Amino acid sequence: MEKIVSLCKRRGFVFQSSEIYGGLASTYDYGHYGVLLKSNVKAEWWRSVVQERDDVVALDAAILMHPRTWEASGHLEGFTDPLVQCLGKCKRRWREDHLREAQPEGDLHCPECGGDLSEPRNFNLMFETHMGPVQDEGSQVFLRPETAQGIFVNFKNVMQFARKKPPFGIAQVGKAFRNEITPGNFVFRTREFEQMEIEFFVPPGEAPEWHGRWMEERMNWYTSLGMRSDHLQLRKHGADELSHYSSATSDIEYLFPMGWSELEGIANRGDFDLTQHAKFSREKLDFVDPGTGDRYVPHVIEPSAGADRGTLAFMVDAYDEEEIEGRERVVLRFHPRLAPVKVAVLPLVNKDGQPEKAREVYTDLRKRMSAEFDTGGSIGKRYRRQDEIGTPWGVTVDHQTMEDDTVTLRDRDSLDQSRIAIAELGTELERRLAAPWTSPKLG
Ligand code: ATP
Repeated sequence: MEKIVSLCKRRGFVFQSSEIYGGLASTYDYGHYGVLLKSNVKAEWWRSVVQERDDVVALDAAILMHPRTWEASGHLEGFTDPLVQCLGKCKRRWREDHLREAQPEGDLHCPECGGDLSEPRNFNLMFETHMGPVQDEGSQVFLRPETAQGIFVNFKNVMQFARKKPPFGIAQVGKAFRNEITPGNFVFRTREFEQMEIEFFVPPGEAPEWHGRWMEERMNWYTSLGMRSDHLQLRKHGADELSHYSSATSDIEYLFPMGWSELEGIANRGDFDLTQHAKFSREKLDFVDPGTGDRYVPHVIEPSAGADRGTLAFMVDAYDEEEIEGRERVVLRFHPRLAPVKVAVLPLVNKDGQPEKAREVYTDLRKRMSAEFDTGGSIGKRYRRQDEIGTPWGVTVDHQTMEDDTVTLRDRDSLDQSRIAIAELGTELERRLAAPWTSPKLG
């Protein structure tokens, strides 16, 4: 993880937030390549769950919601983690359930200083703020701790406008906020993060089947984007782990540097949410089948992924080091569709018309894909820079280019170099972008 954090900082993917003020604990900002990478992750998610299906529609609900939402959803009452505090020297706070995993036997003690711990108390993870100029109880609102509720409260609206009937889903990407007791592991657990969630509404009898289909669908998404399948697993929650709303949940876990950890949760939420919102809002949130006249409250399957966690997992999975001709190379072997930059155009030398020619090639390519033009430093140094940000292809404009309008096309992973006509370059790169891809780390 240290290597990833340092690469992220060195190349401006992700860095400490508010750094000039000494930083804000566990809060991060995304720089240029980080923004491009995370937006590619989100774009691939949209492509797979909306564009390539006809039973899911998109939504973008507000972060601030009516406070009754959180009463109905059970978050006000139950969205808590068990907090314990060290009674010894360090006074640090911990999540009791996490400590219990690490210290399964006997009494718990502080992992920092070995001190005794307080009794656990339930700590609510919702951030609260106030709306308008008066800060009283009536103006209290919450920053949403999940995007899901924005979908449930819009169920009726969307069903009408989208002219859909179950089974159908609503997908949303957006920020969520949780006042985590122990954030950490870089962007794995932060207090502000982005979620990519689908609520998929089905006739009650079909819920178990759709749960299975979505688990398979979502696992395939990660592997289709090059994630190594031996670093992914599905783990079923035990009865004691299930959230208040769920009858069955399985997590997709990734083998992060700190061990197997949740990447995405896929829950069968039953009719809990729609029933609760119907009760609290006094709106009917059921579905009447126009064919049969059947009336029912749809059950919900929820694949809920983290955009930041996913981005981190794709980085960890792509990170590689190798020695080439006695020199160490750090390379991010991203799936080309995830790579922040697809192609770098480099003049071999900074004279003889090569920079001008390279700029022409670059200006043409950037209309078709994310491209970079770089003249700074030796060609080896420029390639190392591109390897570190995971650029799959490099184009070198050299002496021969000036004579026959061909360039060298270099492949990041195989290091193959081939000669190609400038006129064919764009089409060839688009063909490669669309082609199936397997991680070379799989051997
Ligand atoms: P955890 O057990 O890790 O706290 P959770 O089970 O509470 O996670 P969910 O409520 O299922 O998480 O949220 C769905 C997804 O949102 C998670 O799989 C994860 O990818 C992402 N997520 C949740 N909490 C955070 C966080 N604090 N920081 C970054 N991503 C998060």
